[in-house]
Amino acid sequence: MSTVLITGASRGIGAQCALLFAQKGYDVAVNYNHSAEQADALVQELCSCGVRAIAVQADVSDSMQVSKMFQTVKAELGEVEILVNNAGVARVGLLTDMTDDEWDKLISTDLSAIFYTCRAALPDMIRAHRGVIVNIASMWGEVGASCEAAYSAAKAGVIGLTKALAKEVGPSGIRVNAVSPGVVMTDMMQGFSDEDIAALKEETPLNVLGTPEDIAEAVLFLACDKARFITGQVLSVNGGMVI
Ligand code: NAP
Repeated sequence: MSTVLITGASRGIGAQCALLFAQKGYDVAVNYNHSAEQADALVQELCSCGVRAIAVQADVSDSMQVSKMFQTVKAELGEVEILVNNAGVARVGLLTDMTDDEWDKLISTDLSAIFYTCRAALPDMIRAHRGVIVNIASMWGEVGASCEAAYSAAKAGVIGLTKALAKEVGPSGIRVNAVSPGVVMTDMMQGFSDEDIAALKEETPLNVLGTPEDIAEAVLFLACDKARFITGQVLSVNGGMVI
């Protein structure tokens, strides 16, 4: 069975993607940075689905750590056929209050990391003439969010990278797409008050907030052969908030 590597899979959307892929019979590499216990517990759960799964620590904003992560995954589970670039951080605040370090950290985690992982994954995919990359963007990368300029810029970059890379590697049999979530209830929303969350729900035409399952189903669809004719696309999963 195919091996899928999911970055930032210890919690939230990434963890749900890992579970769904395992339930469908894929072997799964669970990347994490700090949440070792959660990653290990998830791996146990994935193995109980009858697939092989490992937890692999790497800060994906560091290209050397990404290279080592790919070596580990290849040695333990074989070549990565499906790469889900999910790891991400958000930061809310005025642009004028942002330091150089905060800017660099966000851009390196949410955008440069995808360059590092794609660069590491592609040689094997090109040789196999087969592979799928799904990048997690954000609706704020499509339209921009006030007080989230760096996050919006990084996610817009993810969308641009997705479209460009799809053209570059399509002739090699590799598809590259993005899923662009709306508001999804994970730890990333912890900084928002109940009133803020209620307002976001109100603003969403379907009047519901997203769940990690909503996003994972879209990722699985783009990764599997049902989407064989789809590449370079951004699948917005946002309850109609950004159309
Ligand atoms: P989350 O619950 O905060 O989880 C973030 C995950 O990313 C964690 O597993 C974390 O790992 C990992 N991570 C962060 N920095 C990392 C690094 N440097 N190296 C490796 N892993 C790292 O976030 P989420 O809501 O599931 O978000 C997942 C993705 O969806 C992100 O790209 C986010 O921007 C995007 N998204 C989320 C929403 C939303 O409303 N939640 C909306 C649009 C887009 P550790 O805990 O192990 O450090």
